[in-house]
Amino acid sequence: MIWNPEIETMPRAALEKLQSERLAKLAEYVYARVPMYKQRMDAAKVRPSDIRGIHDLHKLPFTKKSDLRDNYPFGLFAVPMSEVTRVHASSGTTGKPTVVGYTKNDIDMWAEVAARCFAMSGAQPGDMFQNAYGYGLFTGGLGMHYGAERFGCTVIPISGGNTARQILLLQDFGTAVMACTPSYALTLADEILRLGIDPKSLKVRSFILGAEPWTEEMRTELEAKLGTHAVNIYGLSEVLGPGVSNECIEAKSGMHIAEDHFLTEVLNPSTGEPVADGEVGEIVFTTLTKEAMPVLRYRTGDLCTITREKCICGRTHARMGRILGRTDDMLIIRGVNVFPSQIEAALVGKEPLTPHYALIVTREGHLDSMEVQIEVHDAFYRDLGEARFADADDEALHRVRAYARKSLHDVLGLNADVTLLAPGQAPRSEGGKLKRVFDRRK
Ligand code: AMP
Ligand code: ZN
Repeated sequence: MIWNPEIETMPRAALEKLQSERLAKLAEYVYARVPMYKQRMDAAKVRPSDIRGIHDLHKLPFTKKSDLRDNYPFGLFAVPMSEVTRVHASSGTTGKPTVVGYTKNDIDMWAEVAARCFAMSGAQPGDMFQNAYGYGLFTGGLGMHYGAERFGCTVIPISGGNTARQILLLQDFGTAVMACTPSYALTLADEILRLGIDPKSLKVRSFILGAEPWTEEMRTELEAKLGTHAVNIYGLSEVLGPGVSNECIEAKSGMHIAEDHFLTEVLNPSTGEPVADGEVGEIVFTTLTKEAMPVLRYRTGDLCTITREKCICGRTHARMGRILGRTDDMLIIRGVNVFPSQIEAALVGKEPLTPHYALIVTREGHLDSMEVQIEVHDAFYRDLGEARFADADDEALHRVRAYARKSLHDVLGLNADVTLLAPGQAPRSEGGKLKRVFDRRK
């Protein structure tokens, strides 16, 4: 099912025409209403009338996260506060949050693009939707909530955490679609199996998972454990929140971007120049229709690829690949660029390793070292027994560690220490985003 076929299957030429019209209007709008953009455009000698279409996008200034901080809290708003219906803030845990605002029309547009995501994820109107994204300043909860209502689901606004209750409602309310972070979905799946609940007794068809990076291996594991679909959803508060893009269930191969609202570029993060489709770069969005806090060329820091190739689902909007890392969380270890996603790809799904891991980077003198702590599966642990597991010299453990080290070396070209953890010992998501990288060099 396609929620808005007219827009979502629009021929690309028509889509680009629509984007061009909207971009020209946006340039006028921000120039007149947001002092920072007026100053930047003046400094670059760009007049709003110079922006006639998407081919002029490169003339417009970038926006960075620091610009939001420098204008904290409301300095980038383009409308008077009386027209701001809602504010949200980025989930960043350090320092002051980055604040964003929405008008009534913005909330309406958000519900529309989020409703598209429900259709893409295989939801059907009338489905029970369990929303385990956090409600609050984080955009996940309310963003999905409004999308689900618009789409026609019955919303269970349970919010994040409280696994026992999540499972109870999954069982008793007949949840068909659930949204949460991928790491939490794994926590949930493990708990369901641990309790001896037959996943077939549940009615869940789709998990809509986002807000943090995850991998194909995690998808395979989740889908196998629970017998459901798991699809990827992407968004960020500076641009909107969840609903910027979502995978279609037909292809599960990249997330269709709501390009009628978000003009997308993929740039070389160092030079700011575009990279070719299919090449990894930083994804950059310009909001074409937002009223309260439009952004020009927002540098997300998220690294991915993009494709404009036709999709089997019939949608024409471009697809972005999984987020492979962030320009700012890329670890440089002994001069090698390392993304947590690579570690996951190297290890997850390889017996007896689980997707639960932590990455610890330390430095002695000038030498960096990397340790991957990863949990083994229950069955392996039980077969081996607690005593053997505690014995670092045990031969079976030795083999697994050697094998994990080799996989890591194949992928990263780096030697890493591998520590095997007993089930339940790695950091777990309690509902929100999971922190699994600990850089102790600073
Ligand atoms: P926030 O504004 O707090 O919601 O955080 C947005 C950030 O979460 C994005 O810039 C991404 O780094 C990350 N994120 C959101 N969705 C995904 C996803 N599906 N895969 C990977 N990272 C994601
Ligand atoms: Zn598709």
